[in-house]
Amino acid sequence: MALEKEAKIWFNGKLVDWDEAKIHVLSHVLHYGSSIFEGIRCYKTEKGPAIFRLKAHLLRMLRSCKIYRIELPYSREEIKQAIIDTIKANNLEECYIRPLVFRGYDSLGVNPYPCPVEMVIATWKWGRYLGEDAIEKGVAVKVSSWNRMAPNTFPFLAKLGGNYINSQLMKMEAISDGYSEAIALDTFGYVSEGGGENIFLVLEGKIYTPPLYASILPGITRDSVITLAKDLGYEVKEELIPREMLYIADEVFFTGTAAEISPINSIDKIKIGGGGRGPITKELQEAFFRITSGKEDKYGWLTFVK
Ligand code: PMP
Repeated sequence: MALEKEAKIWFNGKLVDWDEAKIHVLSHVLHYGSSIFEGIRCYKTEKGPAIFRLKAHLLRMLRSCKIYRIELPYSREEIKQAIIDTIKANNLEECYIRPLVFRGYDSLGVNPYPCPVEMVIATWKWGRYLGEDAIEKGVAVKVSSWNRMAPNTFPFLAKLGGNYINSQLMKMEAISDGYSEAIALDTFGYVSEGGGENIFLVLEGKIYTPPLYASILPGITRDSVITLAKDLGYEVKEELIPREMLYIADEVFFTGTAAEISPINSIDKIKIGGGGRGPITKELQEAFFRITSGKEDKYGWLTFVK
């Protein structure tokens, strides 16, 4: 799905025209993947656009900056306001929000320190990431031949641009093999996550998801689903999951800002449960969409734009 142009992009503190938000080809980020980003959704509600879990996304972004030794020239409050200003400038009822911090143009050695820290915030309309049917019918996926990064190689707790080469390799292999997404194992062979999603499974009424040390990004949708599931009375176990446990699970689903809660109907051509959306996945989706639609906000997860 090609990007639909909006009016403005926030670029180093100012709202500029979409087509004017450009950088030099010799910017550090382009050569070495030196960026940090977030992916946030803003949902349409009766009270106007509402940003889902903005505080948690900003915290993750600041933590990513700390891990990558970047000092952001903007405060959390300034970034929050900049996001709201960008949504308003583009007059959007619902959108995807992409804050990006990167090392810009100065010198082209690997050392990023001489290069300026720059920041952009873009917003655009984005539908269902894994296809319109994904939420109900689910997606067919494979276990990737690529593993997630090993501990102490790339910092998986940070959302760094360079980390996404691994996700791209997974995605390209999946598409070439006729799937929409793949699941990666960690370097020890345990289930890790999708290329842009965390993963959950349901077995005998209990919910399982890999722990942070299985090379996963600490997903905000993952955290939301754990909270919702516990509130609905389910036991949620964050523990190492062997690959074959996916095959025997009653339900498997992805979580992510883009993918929301998307059921997985087969893995490596093995049918999962009944081969459609399972009842616990559906229950969690309903609880999740009740909040994102603004019908209830008992955890204070919504930030209203107006
Ligand atoms: N893992 C990876 C690798 C991701 O890129 C994403 C998307 N940000 C997720 C998990 C899900 O995270 P979140 O729920 O915060 O979007």
